[in-house]
Amino acid sequence: FGSTQSLANHEKLWHLMQNYLPSDKKSIQEQIVNHVEFSLARTRFDFHQVHCYQAVSHSIRDRLIESFNDTQLYFHEQDCKRVYYLSIEFLIGRCLQNAVGNLGLQDSYTEAVQELGYKLEDLYDEEVDPALGNGGLGRLAACFLDSLATLNYPAFGYGIRYSYGIFKQLIQNGQQVEAPDYWLEKGNPWEIERLDVQYPVKFYGKVVKRHENGQEKSLWEAGETIVARAYDTPIPGYMTFNTIALRLWRSVPANEFDFTSFNEGDYFKSLEAREKAEYITSVLYPNDNSYAGKELRLKQEYLLVSATLQDILRRFKKVRRDWSTLPEKVAIQLNDTHPSLAIVELLRILIDQEGMTHANAWEIVSKTFGYTNHTVLPEALEKWGVDLLGSLLPRHLEIIYYVNMIFLNKVSAKFPGDAHKLSMLSLIEEGPIKKIRMANLSIIGSHMVNGVARIHSDLLKSDLFKDHYEMRPKKFINITNGVAPRRWLRSCNQQLAKLYDEWLGTDEWVLNMDLLKNLEDKCEDQLALIQFMKVKRNNKLRLIKWVRQYCNVEVNADTLFDIQVKRIHEYKRQFMNILYVIYRYLLLKDTPTEGRRKFAPRTVFFGGKAAPGYLNAKRIIKLINSVAEVINHDLDTNHYLKVVFLPNYNVSSAEIIIPASDISQHISTAGTEASGTSNMKFVMNGGIILGTWDGANIEIAEEVGLDNIFIFGARVEEVGKLIDNMKNSDPFQYIQKPLWNVIQTIRSGIFGHDHHGLLDSITNRNDFYLVAHDFYHYAQAQIKIDQLYQDKISWAKKAFCNSIRSGKFSSDRTIHEYAQKIWNIKPIVVPQPTANKQDR
Ligand code: PLP
Repeated sequence: FGSTQSLANHEKLWHLMQNYLPSDKKSIQEQIVNHVEFSLARTRFDFHQVHCYQAVSHSIRDRLIESFNDTQLYFHEQDCKRVYYLSIEFLIGRCLQNAVGNLGLQDSYTEAVQELGYKLEDLYDEEVDPALGNGGLGRLAACFLDSLATLNYPAFGYGIRYSYGIFKQLIQNGQQVEAPDYWLEKGNPWEIERLDVQYPVKFYGKVVKRHENGQEKSLWEAGETIVARAYDTPIPGYMTFNTIALRLWRSVPANEFDFTSFNEGDYFKSLEAREKAEYITSVLYPNDNSYAGKELRLKQEYLLVSATLQDILRRFKKVRRDWSTLPEKVAIQLNDTHPSLAIVELLRILIDQEGMTHANAWEIVSKTFGYTNHTVLPEALEKWGVDLLGSLLPRHLEIIYYVNMIFLNKVSAKFPGDAHKLSMLSLIEEGPIKKIRMANLSIIGSHMVNGVARIHSDLLKSDLFKDHYEMRPKKFINITNGVAPRRWLRSCNQQLAKLYDEWLGTDEWVLNMDLLKNLEDKCEDQLALIQFMKVKRNNKLRLIKWVRQYCNVEVNADTLFDIQVKRIHEYKRQFMNILYVIYRYLLLKDTPTEGRRKFAPRTVFFGGKAAPGYLNAKRIIKLINSVAEVINHDLDTNHYLKVVFLPNYNVSSAEIIIPASDISQHISTAGTEASGTSNMKFVMNGGIILGTWDGANIEIAEEVGLDNIFIFGARVEEVGKLIDNMKNSDPFQYIQKPLWNVIQTIRSGIFGHDHHGLLDSITNRNDFYLVAHDFYHYAQAQIKIDQLYQDKISWAKKAFCNSIRSGKFSSDRTIHEYAQKIWNIKPIVVPQPTANKQDR
């Protein structure tokens, strides 16, 4: 504030600030109605349910702004260390129900809204599901934000505000058709546009050399500048005043005026060039676990990194201090390699702009970053072509080469004469097209590297990053993923949450999931188990309603609900699942009615999107739908077996699907699924896993007990050899008779004629995911499931055990581990507000 006059005005303004928003019913109603009139400019003659949703959301957002502002102020006063979670995806899902629940306002809002003539539950359904992510990685980032806020850690999420989220999946003639997801069509009441938080982001150009004080300095003269503008979504913690934010960047044209191009006469052409800036954050790349190598994606990654670092450093610099203290105030976590250019960008800033030596800059940078690896699949590892990266970010390429030179010198010193190590550890992959290995960059630029489940972290050490591990063994740790119990139990399964509240006499379990273990004696209490299964049945009825609406299929709640929902991928083996469904169908057809009792009647649900360019994934969807078409219409068997493809699997449908499962399938080839997170959600909600010894299934088995999970299939130690065998044998050897029958049935054309390509992926020595090998073991496990399901009480007991023993998989546990082992940050509890804002 420049003058005394403006300071006085400022004080006046401050004193005029109202009390915190009151939470009694009448005040809530007033707040809502005020938004109807003044934010939406609606009258009662032009008002629909969606407007009520918008007004209600605005009223909640107001509260979040109060607590967010106080939280930021308090963190600033405390001058605490903060963690910044950088992720190219945040799959946050709908906000209203989550916010109402976390603020503890469910009862007052339900009543307030009811009196206005609406049902809160119906308003929840009006919200578009912000789907700025592909799957597990983006959803994990969202669960982490919920836990960070809930546990009072000083944190910020940083990502991209794509105008188009993951495409909407339509099923037409059994095939996936992609429709654009323009999710902002009706506005977004949750975000706060920050016209005051915008940063220039530069691309292209060249590096020029200057001599200063006898030293050569490199400077980047960029060729193009755009602007990244911040949009904040407040993230409320559960039952705490702490509110953090997810800051998403949108690209807009820079306000700079390029006189030359304007003077050259083509006004519209030069405007067009500026408009192109908007395109950068236009679309989320729809690939899950696969790398596409497109320049636009590299621009997205750099935009995220450049804007975020400018924002972090602006905050750091608010207090005058030495650069060497940066790692004491700032921890930056890289959610996979997508934001890993941040390492190079921070080096560039410290060296080129702050005049630091490379060695000093490196010391600071490598203490600041942590890197989480999410996959060992080779097709998912990011490797940017040197030419592409060098043209977009010439100075960054130069820095990468320099970093590599110094690093390889260290490698040579530690492993003299070991050429293999040098070539594996180099940041540059040699070959016809030279490439930068972003995982290598992330590892050497971070002080900690973690995998996301124990088996995955072990594989990083023994396999993918073996040489890095030998170089710096202490850097590598495991932090097993987790999921937010607020969204994934308390709000998606309210009846079960209520039972737990009653049985424990407290709702403390929402913050300490281990408390559910105190319900162990209910395992022997038949009445309790019956109540538990009644909730399960109600959840099945809710899913049935959804299926009726979106799939036009009738499903029986008394059948076993067998569910596999996740991205469609060969390594996740939905193909094996549908092959087994056909096998089961053939078995049923072959069994006279009186013998069919041994088959527990089942409904097999599939759901998930295929990347638009992933042919085999799309073929799998087509096969599932073709099989469903035949089986569901076979009056002879459809009481025993039905197949449903749930279209457009996303966070909000997951919230309905997951609580309804009896069995959930997580059947990736051992060693391919890093962790999985939906497995944890199913278990929390009392769904029993049918799965392989892979990812977090292993740790889930340890927690719930091997008696309470169905595990089958090859172990990771066997996989390499089995693949070699498969490659070297005749398909008639490695594919057994029952599976051949299934293959022949598909070939016969009863499910249509377009499945040959897919069958080739196992019959031509191409069965790299060992579908044929595991099929027999899978079918055996299915028999055990059928047997158990006949005994309702034993089933209930196992399902219940799964839920109450799932405490380890709360993302609260995960976040505490990150905070202690990587970030070295402490919770900072913002004091609850007193009556008046002036007392702050
Ligand atoms: N997609 C959505 C919408 C999800 O909610 C989840 C996790 O629950 C995933 C994908 C990840 O599923 P999985 O861990 O089975 O790959």
